[in-house]
Amino acid sequence: TAQPNSVEARDISYHMHSYTNARRHEEIGPLVIEKGDGIYVEDASGKRYIEAMAGLWSVAVGFSEQRLVDAATRQMKQLPFYHNFTHKSHAPVIDLAEKLVSIAPVPMSKVFFTNSGSEANDTAMKMIWYRSNALGQPQKKKIISRKRGYHGVTIASASLTGLPNNHISFDLPIANVIHTGTPHHYRDAQPGESEEAFATRLADELEQLILAEGPDTIAAFIGEPVMGAGGVVVPPATYWEKIQAVLAKYDILLVADEVICGFGRTGSMFGCETFGIRPDILVMSKQLSSSYLPISALLINDRVYQPLADESNRIGTFGHGYTAGGHPVPAAVALENLRIIEENDLVGNAKRVGAHMQKRLRELADHELVGEVRGVGLIAGVELVADKATRAPWKNAGALGLLVNGHLQENGVISRNMGDTLGFCPPLIITESQVDDMVAAVKKALDASLPEVKG
Ligand code: PMP
Repeated sequence: TAQPNSVEARDISYHMHSYTNARRHEEIGPLVIEKGDGIYVEDASGKRYIEAMAGLWSVAVGFSEQRLVDAATRQMKQLPFYHNFTHKSHAPVIDLAEKLVSIAPVPMSKVFFTNSGSEANDTAMKMIWYRSNALGQPQKKKIISRKRGYHGVTIASASLTGLPNNHISFDLPIANVIHTGTPHHYRDAQPGESEEAFATRLADELEQLILAEGPDTIAAFIGEPVMGAGGVVVPPATYWEKIQAVLAKYDILLVADEVICGFGRTGSMFGCETFGIRPDILVMSKQLSSSYLPISALLINDRVYQPLADESNRIGTFGHGYTAGGHPVPAAVALENLRIIEENDLVGNAKRVGAHMQKRLRELADHELVGEVRGVGLIAGVELVADKATRAPWKNAGALGLLVNGHLQENGVISRNMGDTLGFCPPLIITESQVDDMVAAVKKALDASLPEVKG
């Protein structure tokens, strides 16, 4: 059902794409993007699109921010690379670490730099295990994650991810990773169950799982404040408070995966602030540098850091790190990116224009193909159904998402269908009238799809 891409498919032959149906790709080819300008990107044929996913939830400041280009150029000229192994450092990474600690939503002690969200979550897992060993609790290694959660694709982070697509055929998850329920009220609540009762039930189920596994074997819980790739799942208002009460009772660390929510997405600097989450480890990437260059990081508190420091002192080193972790060029870009976010109040913009986007998208909730519209700030999901009453999909799950998303691309908006949920996560610089253009294109794509589905 996917439409062929209009542009000449130049790179079908050699480039195997991420998250792509390889055979379908051989048929339809890629959409080749050549330029960016604000919230827009342009393909090789000159057609312009609103990048309504900010290029994989990434580009806070838009696609043409000269200050980031200049920051990268300056740093490239001064010191294009240096590492952070064994007592070496450089100014961009020192300044960035200081900045991140200063804006952290809860008191944090240290920053550890990595290169991708997946690497950062791998690092979190290793830090947690190292800490348990340091504390003389080698049995305390299990990490609880959630079904539908997304934490990356390396062996460890794909194990934390709770999507079947990332486990089946890869022989994952690895040992010591277990998955609990998702706060997805529309799909997973019982008939007539209130959001509040649903949140209470999820917290109870978490506690039962901990008791069944043995509380002294559970080291940590990881979750995204708002789930992104799992279908933009916004938890009930009291969910995080109830989950944190259970974790505190059994001395379990909390990892907040802010790879999508971090730096303004939900209308606060961090999703943790929007939902009252108090993490021990906060994982960030994407909007940290607006993804102009890859960089990710973990903020850790003293509860995590002090045992790590003691253990590394005892055995000689903390034996973990990446050659390019804390690379000076992406670090300089990230610093400038954070300055732009603050100077232009992009977090405030996400809150204000986000409220407008939520309101406008919710006007589509009456459409015959829309099951639910959900979101907060500048992140939203529109879940599509073929039958509003039964919430049943069209043909097979994901087919409707693909169909509507194809029409949306024709209409000049790039979204992403996560199964049957369309994601909307535009750059934080978007204006209300640009939101209106986006929503009009979504409406048009829904209308264009209707005869195919009902006809
Ligand atoms: N965590 C979350 C919440 C993510 O959304 C992603 C990427 N979409 C990752 C981790 C993994 O990041 P990366 O693709 O940079 O490895």
